[in-house]
Formats: sequence, C-alpha cells, structure tokens
Amino acid sequence: MRCFQKIKCTLKCLLWVPAALCALYFTRPSMQSRTDVQTCTTWKAPILWEGMFDPEVYDQNHKKEGTSVALTVFAVGRYLDEYLETFLNSSEHHFMVGLPVSYYVFTDMPEKVLHIHLGPQRTLKMIKVQRHSRWQDISMMRMKAISDVIESDIRHHSTHVFCFDVDQVFTGRFGSEALGDSVALLHAYYYHLPKIFYTYDRNPKSKAYMENGDFYYHAAVFGGSWKSVKSLAEGCYQNIMEDKQNNVEALWHDESHLNKYLWLHKPSRVLSPEYCWDTHIGYRSDIQVTRLLWAPKQYDKLRTL
Ligand code: UDP
Ligand code: MN
Repeated sequence: MRCFQKIKCTLKCLLWVPAALCALYFTRPSMQSRTDVQTCTTWKAPILWEGMFDPEVYDQNHKKEGTSVALTVFAVGRYLDEYLETFLNSSEHHFMVGLPVSYYVFTDMPEKVLHIHLGPQRTLKMIKVQRHSRWQDISMMRMKAISDVIESDIRHHSTHVFCFDVDQVFTGRFGSEALGDSVALLHAYYYHLPKIFYTYDRNPKSKAYMENGDFYYHAAVFGGSWKSVKSLAEGCYQNIMEDKQNNVEALWHDESHLNKYLWLHKPSRVLSPEYCWDTHIGYRSDIQVTRLLWAPKQYDKLRTL
C-alpha cells in the first residue's frame, strides 16, 4: 500500500513538471542572457544585444502604455540630397514599427519635395533652420533646436524622443526595446577598446573636459523620455555656448559634450553597436544583427568648410 502511495505521489510530482515549464515559458522575463558581451552597466542599466529580449513583449507593453515616439533628424546643405530620403524610407521599414511616430526634419530648404510614403500613425514636419557656415556649428547647434522643439511641440504629442544623424540607413528592427528614460549608444569603433583609447575632450579649458568615463558614446543616436532628452540637449547647449564665450571648442564638438553629460547623468539604457554599425569594421562575432548602418562619408563633397 505504501509503495502504491509513493508511486502516486511521484506521478503527481511529475505532472507538475510540464505545468511548471509552461508557466515559466509564458511568464519568462523579457531580458535573457548573452555570455559573450557585457549586458549590464555598473549602475545596473541594461546594455541591449540581440538575443536578450523578446521584441513582441516590448511592443505589446508600449502599445498598452500608449507610447509615441518623436524622431529628430537634421539635413542641412548638401546632406539633404545625399542622405535624407534613404534615411527616412529605411526608417519607415524599421524604426518603431507599430507605434505612432512623428518625424521632425530640420533643414535650411524645407521647400524641397521628399518622396516618402508614410505608414499609418506616422507624420512628418519640416522645420526651417539657419545654415551655419561651419559644419561643426551645424552639428553642435542641433542641441538648441532639439530642446526648443521638445518644448514647443514634442512634449505635447510624444512620450519619447530619438535624435539621429542623417548619414545612416536602417537595416533591421530598431524597435521599442530601445526605449527608456535616457538612452545612449556605444560607439562601434570604441566598444572593444580599453578606456585609455577613448577620445574624450582632455582640454581643461573646455566644459566637455573629462579624465575618466564609463564608455565612449556615439552622438549619432541618443534618446529617451522627452523630459530627459530636453535636459540633455539644454545641458550640452549651455556648455557649448560657454566654450564659445571662452574661445574653446571641444575635440569632437557635440559628441564630447554628450559624453560629459552622460558621465554626470548616467543613461538608464545603453544600446550595443548593433544599433549603429559601420561595415568597414568587418566581421565581429558579437554583432549578430545590424539595425542601423553608417552611410558612406563624403566629407570633401558635402561639408562646406
Ligand atoms: N549635418 C548637416 N549638414 C552639414 C553637417 C552636418 O545636416 O553640413 C547634420 C547631419 O544630420 C549629420 C550630423 O549633422 O549627420 C553630424 O554631422 P556628420 O554626420 O558629418 O558627423 P560625423 O558623423 O561624421 O561625425
Ligand atoms: Mn554622422
């Protein structure tokens, strides 16, 4: 009799195994592990790599929460003809598909006709900006325009903002997993290097000066909630202007200021270089997908000074 009860008990326990596995499957966390790369910062922010997340879980949650995303991009001077349409057309296929997206295109030639077919719940506004004569100023002054448009428009319509360089092409999903309060991108050329190679601004006279840092972030992509992107853009702009008054310019312009700001205000989410890769780097086993690629640089042809 005792033996029979033992068997009954064992069978009962065995029955729980598939049920438990099933429950585990459906309630599994959206973050899974990758052992070949760093997936977490020292301040416990996730670093996003392919294989770590379930895109559908993120999409469903953001749809439920009513997330909407603004994308800012600048196409001033020759950058408009060279890059803008390819950037926007590729973004229509890959950037935050399924969520409402508002594009804010800053250009000195808003009258130029664009051939972009926008999907449902996706809109585009052209905003006229001055064409600064130096390319360094075109790049740096983006911070002021971004903070102004967040204040006047974006904060009333979108929960999040992503800011992009235009000389890039989306090639894979750049989705809601990338959204967070403050989002920064690991620079494809530096993520493998020891910190001594990071090209922070080392001039003590600049507001961007820093000796140590966490990572080398790439200014071609940053984002977050409208509030935190506004603070970042304002903070960087104030330091850029202070440098101008003191006749100094940071080594890598707005990127140096961005790195300083993100050292002092840690991002809550970090994107791996999958989110902005350069194929010239060649094969890397840790890059399993490329989501955004650098377009070919043509500084001689495109930059004015
Ligand atoms: N930009 C522009 N016109 C210019 C120079 C810069 O519209 O004449 C904008 C554009 O969005 C560009 C960004 O500023 O992607 C940063 O400049 P660039 O891409 O040349 O810098 P890099 O990525 O080479 O550091
Ligand atoms: Mn660029």
